[in-house]
Amino acid sequence: MKDCIFCRIVNKELPTEIVYEDDEILAFVDINGLAPVHILIVPKEHIESINDLDDKIGGKDLAGKLIMIAQKIARDKKIASDGYKLLFRVSKHGQQEVPHIHLHLIGGAQLEENIGVA
Ligand code: AMP
Ligand code: ZN
Repeated sequence: MKDCIFCRIVNKELPTEIVYEDDEILAFVDINGLAPVHILIVPKEHIESINDLDDKIGGKDLAGKLIMIAQKIARDKKIASDGYKLLFRVSKHGQQEVPHIHLHLIGGAQLEENIGVA
C-alpha cells in the first residue's frame, strides 16, 4: 500500500536494519527502541491489524509464523533464556500507530511491568 510506512520498508524504499527476511515476512529494528533489543516482525502483505486475520488469508499460519520467527530471532540475539516480551497492538485502544500488522519483540534487559509507550 502506497502510503504505508511498513510497506515502504518491505519494498526497500526506506532504509532499515533488517534482521530476518523470507518470502512472506520481514523483521527489522524498531527506529525508536524501548530496550536493547526491539525488533518488529511484519508480514510483507499489507494487512492492517490482527482484526483482519481470517482463514481465507491463512491467518493461523501467518500468526504462528510471526511468533515462531520472533522465537528464532530471540535465540539468535541470545535473549531467549532470559526472556522477552511479544506484543501486538491492535487499533485505537491498543495504541496501534502503524496500520500494518507488526509483532514487537522486546528484550535484552529486565523489562518493567509496563513498557511505557502511550
Ligand atoms: P505501534 O505503536 O505498535 O503501531 O508501533 C509502531 C512502531 O513502529 C513504533 O515502535 C515505532 O518506533 C516504529 N517505527 C515507526 N517508523 C519506523 C521506521 N521507519 N523504522 C523502524 N521502526 C519504525
Ligand atoms: Zn503496509
